[in-house]
Amino acid sequence: MDLGLKGRLALVTGGDSGIGFRTAQRLLQEGARVALSDMEPDALDAAVETLRKSGDVRGFPADLTDSTQVDALQQTVSTEMGDPDIVVSAAGITGPTGFFHDLNEEDWRKVLDVNFLTALRVAQAFIPAMRRKKWGRVVFIASEDAVQPYIDELPYCASKAALLSLSKGLSSTYGPDGITVNCVSPAFIETPMTDAMMEKRAKRDGVDIDTAVRTFIEKERPMMTVKRRGRPEEVADAIAWLVSETATFTTGTVLRVDGGSVGTMV
Ligand code: NAD
Repeated sequence: MDLGLKGRLALVTGGDSGIGFRTAQRLLQEGARVALSDMEPDALDAAVETLRKSGDVRGFPADLTDSTQVDALQQTVSTEMGDPDIVVSAAGITGPTGFFHDLNEEDWRKVLDVNFLTALRVAQAFIPAMRRKKWGRVVFIASEDAVQPYIDELPYCASKAALLSLSKGLSSTYGPDGITVNCVSPAFIETPMTDAMMEKRAKRDGVDIDTAVRTFIEKERPMMTVKRRGRPEEVADAIAWLVSETATFTTGTVLRVDGGSVGTMV
């Protein structure tokens, strides 16, 4: 299926790793141009170098918790590549974990800042040009945790639930301008984020990583019917469709890529 992405310009945040990286690669393969953003200039350069064989990609380092850097990102991307038609907001962290009574306000601020406010800032910076063009696609990466909170990571869960609400609201606000806004909700995808979780678990239980993955699914994610970690390219495929020319009537929705982890249909 031709996704109609040739020549479109996409900004991908959290782009040098995991889901963001694979999404950038997928969009390049579809003929889109990509402005890749992440925090660490060296890691970003390495990612751009790898992606260059797939198409026109340039790196733009920014810490998205700093609104000045988000504004600078918008200016620089606009000057060097043009105004993005597509924004995929994949920057995120697991952040502090632990039960509610073990976490303090700073723990909450940190996770909400990185997982929710970075997406908000990027939307604020990049939607105005989409409105002028009367075409745009915005995708936030939420999580199964948004609708199925796990009690030892409530800040993460709440930050992802906030993204669902924001995307629904923005889809209503900007639908008349030809802009769609959606979320993708993955669960347990094989990226550095869950590598770190599994390394911690393997160390705690004195087992290897494969065993840690297996017992995590058995004990913590019993509803996952696909008994393995998801692959970042499986998430990238869903995102590529949502930002495509063919997804014109799909907005304000959430597309789960979670191996069945969320236990309800809606
Ligand atoms: P990852 O750690 O591989 O990638 C996250 C990227 O975000 C990193 O490259 C990191 O540098 C970047 N980032 C963090 N803070 C930033 C900041 N302040 N400014 C700019 N960039 C920043 O993780 P991933 O698994 O690819 O996660 C991508 C997104 O998907 C995240 O939002 C995550 O919460 C979400 N998600 C992941 C999973 C999973 O199982 N891996 C499941 C559900 C949702």
